[in-house]
Amino acid sequence: MSEKTIFKRIIDGEIPAEILHEDEHCLAFRDISAQAPTHVLVIPKKEIQNVASATDEDQMLLGHLMLVIRNVAQELGLEKGYRVVANCGSDGGQSVDHLHFHVLGGRAMQWPPG
Ligand code: AMP
Repeated sequence: MSEKTIFKRIIDGEIPAEILHEDEHCLAFRDISAQAPTHVLVIPKKEIQNVASATDEDQMLLGHLMLVIRNVAQELGLEKGYRVVANCGSDGGQSVDHLHFHVLGGRAMQWPPG
């Protein structure tokens, strides 16, 4: 069996994280290397590698993650807006092979991304 990802270890409580939201399907916690004044990661508990690996069966779960992102952003007071990012695969700049959505806010974002 392949080694657990760092995010699976957070889900399993093996390493600490600053958790902002948890329910039966997902977790939201602060990114350890914040790229904005607010930088949160929202991840499913189900082990899905990335958006490209999601299946039609994951439709409800993916929708749930989006609504958790909305709620967390609201709770964190990001009323001026925020950016939601899912890096996918090597060209996408993904470094942890467990699906995650970055929620970045607290400053104006630039476009295009690097
Ligand atoms: P990505 O490069 O899109 O795969 O994003 C992975 C993110 O996980 C990066 O922003 C890292 O800073 C973050 N990260 C890695 N390890 C941890 C950890 N133990 N706790 C919180 N965030 C982490």
